[in-house]
Amino acid sequence: MNLILLGAPGAGKGTQAEILCKKLGIPSISTGNILRAAIKDGTPTGLKAKSYMDAGQLVPDEVIIGIIGERLAQSDCAKGYVLDGVPRTIGQAEAMEKAGIKIDAVVAIEISEEEILRRMSGRRVCEACGSSYNMEAIPPKVEGICDNCGGKLIQRKDDTPETVRERLKVYHKETAPLADFYAERGLLKRVSVAGDKEATNAAILQVLGL
Ligand code: ADP
Ligand code: ZN
Repeated sequence: MNLILLGAPGAGKGTQAEILCKKLGIPSISTGNILRAAIKDGTPTGLKAKSYMDAGQLVPDEVIIGIIGERLAQSDCAKGYVLDGVPRTIGQAEAMEKAGIKIDAVVAIEISEEEILRRMSGRRVCEACGSSYNMEAIPPKVEGICDNCGGKLIQRKDDTPETVRERLKVYHKETAPLADFYAERGLLKRVSVAGDKEATNAAILQVLGL
């Protein structure tokens, strides 16, 4: 099963992708995590991406299209995958279609703006593995330490209120139109966030018929 998770920053795409992958036994592919790893490693892609990310802007389509082509060609993607945070523009979605990437379903996670702002201020991510936590809603077992790998939890540079507002603006302009793009192709399933991450996950499995 090849899935796309759509949703505003803070909607919980990463958290849901992680749960789905464990349940379905397929990898989750987050362009945000791939880019953050590239920045940490100082690769040419990372150097190109950093200034866009820190400013809350999108990384140019051609960079993302290259990353995703490479990643989906790896053998662990053969049985399916969950795409988290990509495509994020109509240009990326069209390029994926042109490349022959087949998508079975697109889940749009819907959430209020108020809830997004609340969540992002409490978000912490693992420096080592990228897992995300929320100080209120999804705290780690030990403060400041990742449950999965023992890595250090940090606040992302782009999670400051000012940058979050910019990312939301970009989301409405560039990414929200993807819901119509996939609805036209009969692939879109909408899920509203209500309750905890398990409740949202149950709703996602239900719309997917799983
Ligand atoms: P969130 O979903 O919370 O915004 P991500 O980790 O998915 O966080 O992305 C962080 C940043 O990485 C984005 O603001 C953007 O700069 C860049 N990025 C990630 N994926 C893409 C993409 N598909 N296209 C363009 N930029 C991207
Ligand atoms: Zn970790």
